[in-house]
Amino acid sequence: MPTLFEKIIARDIPADIVHEDELCIAIKDINPQAPIHILIIPKKPITRVGEAEKADREVLGHLLLAGGKIAADLGVLSTEKGFRLVINHGKDGGEAVPHLHVHLLAGRGLTWPPG
Ligand code: 5GP
Repeated sequence: MPTLFEKIIARDIPADIVHEDELCIAIKDINPQAPIHILIIPKKPITRVGEAEKADREVLGHLLLAGGKIAADLGVLSTEKGFRLVINHGKDGGEAVPHLHVHLLAGRGLTWPPG
């Protein structure tokens, strides 16, 4: 059974795509929690970050590098602005979709600690 994000990658479900390369796709979140809320999703359907394997190192690193590139593209790379990358794992972590993804949040001052 393909995950929701696999269906988006396959263009079976529409999404607002802001970046795509050989290893990942990045889309606007359907329910944004900040003025900029992007999901950076590996094309390989790794279920969640704590279940990634050594062989996934390249993909995991690529997602962070993609986060920096997308932040630059969206004009929030400067330290004056800035952004946050978040990965939710499991129930307490707030995970809803069991296909690893990195949230990129920006466009307002984000509080710490998170809720
Ligand atoms: P999680 O809670 O698993 O870390 O994040 C899942 C995210 O996927 C949520 O922020 C949610 O708003 C987003 N989401 C759920 N369904 C869709 C969808 O069909 N399209 C898009 N673009 N985002 C979705």
